[in-house]
Amino acid sequence: MDNQAFFKIGYGLYVVTAHENGKDNGCIVNAVMQATNTPNRLVLAINRENLTCEMISRTNRFNLSVLCHGTDFEMFRHFGFQSGKTVDKFADFQDARRSENGIYYITKNTNAYFSATTTQTIDLGTHLLFVADVDAAEVLSDQPTVTYTDYQEKIKPKPEKSSEKKGWRCKICGYIYEGEELPEDFICPLCKHPASDFERL
Ligand code: FE
Repeated sequence: MDNQAFFKIGYGLYVVTAHENGKDNGCIVNAVMQATNTPNRLVLAINRENLTCEMISRTNRFNLSVLCHGTDFEMFRHFGFQSGKTVDKFADFQDARRSENGIYYITKNTNAYFSATTTQTIDLGTHLLFVADVDAAEVLSDQPTVTYTDYQEKIKPKPEKSSEKKGWRCKICGYIYEGEELPEDFICPLCKHPASDFERL
């Protein structure tokens, strides 16, 4: 099987946020789609290692902010490459506002947000798949949605050509594992992608 084929599937990129017992958190997701429009229903897959995933599974509520052109790598670093288990991602984050459900949504470099309530949770092993009814939706700008291809080609920092480092590089976030052999069960410490998403340097 050629795993590169999976990179041909088109995706947007989103910040999904949750709120539980006074704590706010959010993470980057790409696996989102509108499943039905009567009612307006989304499906969303999140890696269960993410604190946001745990929070949604307990509270059944989330906001989804759609990232648009103008988003820089810092947004992905902030929400994607650090964990809410160790960092308060909203402690000094200015570009967020609470919607009616009390959950933050992102106000900068976003073109829309949704507030949703989960109706089903399906255990997919590494990920949970949430089926959710949309309670509110608002357009925030006319900028086009950023795609996963945009992220790979224009947003992600380019690898340093001069780097003498030997080892394996995560194709998702650029993290470098230094070592001859990458363990089969290796998980990228930054973006949580598996060994199959690494390439040899
Ligand atoms: Fe990574």
